[in-house]
Amino acid sequence: MRSLGARLFLSYLVVILAGMAVLFGAAVVVGPRQLERRGAGIGGFGPRGPGSGPPATTWARFVRSGMADALIISSLAAIVAAAGVSIVVTRRIVRPVHQLAAASHRLAEGRYEERVPVGGGDELADLAVSFNTMAEALEQTETRRRELLGDVAHELRTPLAAIGGYMEGLTDERLLPDPEIFLRISSDVARLQRIVTDLEELSRLEAGRISLELKPVSVADLITTTMGRLRGQAEDKGLSLDVSVDPGLPVVRVDPDRIQQVLLNLVGNAIQYTPTPGRITVSARWHGPWMEVHVADTGIGLAPEHLPHIFERFYRADRSRARAGGGSGLGLTIARHIVEAHGGRIWAESPGPGRGSTFAFTLRLD
Ligand code: ADP
Repeated sequence: MRSLGARLFLSYLVVILAGMAVLFGAAVVVGPRQLERRGAGIGGFGPRGPGSGPPATTWARFVRSGMADALIISSLAAIVAAAGVSIVVTRRIVRPVHQLAAASHRLAEGRYEERVPVGGGDELADLAVSFNTMAEALEQTETRRRELLGDVAHELRTPLAAIGGYMEGLTDERLLPDPEIFLRISSDVARLQRIVTDLEELSRLEAGRISLELKPVSVADLITTTMGRLRGQAEDKGLSLDVSVDPGLPVVRVDPDRIQQVLLNLVGNAIQYTPTPGRITVSARWHGPWMEVHVADTGIGLAPEHLPHIFERFYRADRSRARAGGGSGLGLTIARHIVEAHGGRIWAESPGPGRGSTFAFTLRLD
């Protein structure tokens, strides 16, 4: 039955009917017996004919008291029956409420695997479904929190162990204090700083605590300026950096600093994961209500099994190579949050390892 109101109404009806049935049954059984008992008291009844029995007032008293006795007994039986039926019916209706209350207590104690059975199809069943959804969301949040703590500890351990090792070597004079050692130490410190800064940024993004300063921007200009900042880095590595955008593209309403951050990350990765000689091409095109920006490289590419995970935090297709590059492993996760905060989508494509990859994102046109 769909509604709790209807179930309650039906339960009242069942209780009333049970009470009435017992009242009626008891009256049928007890009534004649009472009348017989009382009748014996006034000399019995029989076919004596008019005027042969007790006077009318005696008859009236006898019927009244017989009926009263029968009604009292049947009413008591009806009350007991109705109370019994209502206890059974109420228990059935209230059981899910008790289960929900008990499950909420266990959930509050941190037992996030707690779920309640769903049945009945009424509002209480809807409540049970909502409770289970909430418990699942809490369980996922808790799992993510635990994973994050594990990931962060793991990421911090490597540079910290390296710094610790150098300091120990310097202290017991196994290592000479030459500039190269200090350079390695400062590179590990820089990596730690990058991880911490990116974690702060990610936590702000995940909590929805960044406010986008949207303004109409020409994507062509944005790409050209950003590429200007990375061209030197690409050329130093012997890579060519091409930009292919139609200057007539419409403007988009975005936070230019944030979109620049996304571009810097995608092109920075392309530079890092493309061996020499190689080419990186940044292009933008207009596709229905969307502006699509592509960053394509001729680099190491990605195996299909990595593609669905590449935007997860600390996910690395090639751990040793990515770590050696000094990245925090959070760049793409941050980029995804920024693009999604703008209402867009970000994805990666690659024909396979060694065959380059393309990272693309969309922005809604005004
Ligand atoms: P980081 O580069 O700091 O490790 P990112 O979140 O920016 O972290 O990237 C996550 C992973 O995605 C990288 O470790 C790398 O394995 C893969 N990746 C990113 N960009 C490219 C690319 N252009 N070509 C191949 N792999 C890439």
